Amino acid sequence: MTANEYVKSRFGRFMDECTYEEIYTALLEYVKEKTKEKESSQGKKKLYYISAEFLIGKLLSNNLINLGLYDEVKEELEKCGKSIAQLEEMELEPSLGNGGLGRLAACFLDSIATLGLNGDGVGLNYHFGLFRQVFENNLQKEEPNPWITPQSWLTRTDKTYRIHFGGFTVQSRMYDIDVAGYENRTTKLHLFDVESLDESLVHDGIHFDKSQFAKNLTLFLYPDDSDESGRLLRVYQQYFMVSNAARLILDECAQKGSNMYDLADYAVIQINDTHPTMVIPELIRLLMEKGLTMDEAINVVSKTCAYTNHTILAEALEKWPMHFMQQAVPHLVPIIYELNNRVNKKYNDPSVSIINGDNCVCMAHIDIHYGISVNGVAALHTEILKESELNNFYRLYPEKFNNKTNGITFRRWLLYCNPQLTSFIEGLIGPGFKKDAMELEKLSAYVNDDAVLEQLLNIKDARKVILRDFLKHTQNIEIDADSVFDIQIKRLHEYKRQQMNALYVIHKYFEIKSGKKPVRPVTVFFGAKAAPAYIIAKDIIHLILCLSQIINNDPEVSPYLKVVMVENYNVTLAEKLIPACDISEQISLASKEASGTSNMKFMLNGAVTLGTRDGANVEIADLVGEENIFTFGESSQTVIDRYARADYVSRAYYEEDEDIKRAVDFIVSDEMMAAGCRENLERLYNELLNKDWFMTFPDFQDYVKTKDKMLEAYEERRAWAKMMLVNISKAGFFSADRTIQQYNDEIWKLEQ
Ligand SMILES: *Cc1c(COP(=O)(O)O)cnc(C)c1O
Repeated sequence: MTANEYVKSRFGRFMDECTYEEIYTALLEYVKEKTKEKESSQGKKKLYYISAEFLIGKLLSNNLINLGLYDEVKEELEKCGKSIAQLEEMELEPSLGNGGLGRLAACFLDSIATLGLNGDGVGLNYHFGLFRQVFENNLQKEEPNPWITPQSWLTRTDKTYRIHFGGFTVQSRMYDIDVAGYENRTTKLHLFDVESLDESLVHDGIHFDKSQFAKNLTLFLYPDDSDESGRLLRVYQQYFMVSNAARLILDECAQKGSNMYDLADYAVIQINDTHPTMVIPELIRLLMEKGLTMDEAINVVSKTCAYTNHTILAEALEKWPMHFMQQAVPHLVPIIYELNNRVNKKYNDPSVSIINGDNCVCMAHIDIHYGISVNGVAALHTEILKESELNNFYRLYPEKFNNKTNGITFRRWLLYCNPQLTSFIEGLIGPGFKKDAMELEKLSAYVNDDAVLEQLLNIKDARKVILRDFLKHTQNIEIDADSVFDIQIKRLHEYKRQQMNALYVIHKYFEIKSGKKPVRPVTVFFGAKAAPAYIIAKDIIHLILCLSQIINNDPEVSPYLKVVMVENYNVTLAEKLIPACDISEQISLASKEASGTSNMKFMLNGAVTLGTRDGANVEIADLVGEENIFTFGESSQTVIDRYARADYVSRAYYEEDEDIKRAVDFIVSDEMMAAGCRENLERLYNELLNKDWFMTFPDFQDYVKTKDKMLEAYEERRAWAKMMLVNISKAGFFSADRTIQQYNDEIWKLEQ
């Protein structure tokens, strides 16, 4: 049955006589059915990828592509005078993640399905997602971001569990989203919800009673780096997630014939960051309920769990006060004590204890002692874990440590988001790269082909026009499609250094004012949400929005420089911004960005990276060669040493460097005060001057110089196009299919 026939069977009318709403409803059901048909037999052993976040993005078009139906449906729609783009706009994006970590989990599901591996995702069904960002008076405001509509990708299942907390019990229910792999099987994303949820608890933006756990458990994705009052709620959420996961896993394994002693032959659990760590004590507890001794249960569980570390920032290595555990999950406390006692008896080293001197539970330590694998997410990151952050553990368990450089799904981040580039590539090297991304290397045969280089530039120009029209239509932003598109889109965090990019903008503003004009206008794009309680991050957003107002309205400057901050940066916006990018900003302080994945998306779409030698940027540089990337700034080793000596004084740089002084002083200038709030601007000014914890000043001049060099290089259009081509041709390594194959070969060992 074609999509149009399905629409007819559903509504008694063909597409041409249906509303978009009706077509959307029918297509969603059609895709769900087609996906079901692709469910294939399951092997004995299964992967459970547990993650507090799955930033999946919109699903309709992506699923159509993976099912091989996209072109057909698009044509059918067009024949009926309907556009698929308008249909896509009807779908709401689920905001079930903060950023890279959640997006990675979503890319991994796509690759697990595409490689035909037997694995499912397990997470939570947050009704209002993270939050929707709106700008008001140049400030970020947070609104709930509901995404569950009557026509939804969620399928309600019969699976429910009673989950016990200290003092009360809730009933859960599992909802499933089918994830279609590219021309292969499907996997499921299991999202658990609480039956007693009460959406009416939410008022005035994203506020709600944080103590009514039975009613609030799955209202919001509680951000990682948020306020104290929500930390306890996060423990409840985490336990709710993993207790459901653990029960599901044991049920499924029992059904397949496991006697529980052989659990590791039936299940492998990937713990995505420390959020799902309590699955370890919870599984031990449940196995003991089934009659295993503590010894046996610990032994079984220690063979099934693997842990992925995503960051070396201390704030993200979760440590929960023991009294949180006592309150939320008293039944896990004796198990955690036992796990801790065993570690202390064996190693007698407080630095590797599970319970630390402040009586907090170090979640990562549970994962490392009682898991089979600890992996970092880029080569440099894994080395830093081994050599410094987790060195004490590395010396105990060298065999557990391994690297799995992140990847992205090329279906969403090339085939879907950039059909123009995709069909051009296909015309040159055939369709093989869609399944085997390394085939992109074949493009290197064309690095001196003028017609090919010219066409690459044309495609980029076309994508810039598409972005211009999209931003005009959706956010009423005016941009010049002939300007250089310089883009930094990622969560707002001081270590990612949006503030350094903002200082560059101020620097350029002064240059233009003094008559030094760029040969071609530049548009600097930002997109970033800040955690609601992260004050300085919100101040940086305020700075950027004020700059944008001042610069874009200055007739002397705006013909040469524009600053655009898109509202509510999400996957949908990324899909529009990335294909249009010329300069990919990857400027984290060296050693601080574990991997980054937007760097990979940009490269794949023919942007050139402006980056520090951090995270996966290092591997990008190795692949494309130093002549096809612009790197700058201090090395990770220099930075690590500087932190160790604790002798960085930002004020010294400010006093010695006139450019830095002029840019920083502008933050508290009269113009800025007129555009913004004194309190926020002064706080940020003082932060930079007295702290600058992520060392923007030492890298500033090199950053300015390198970016300017890049703008010059942009004018050599043929040479620039060559860099674009090399970047695309070397992007194959960053396919999540490669990453997932490595996880399977080295950790999961599922049948293939
Ligand atoms: C890829 C992606 C990220 C991760 O970006 P980084 O620059 O690697 O931090 C964050 N948010 C969205 C919406 C993404 O698509």
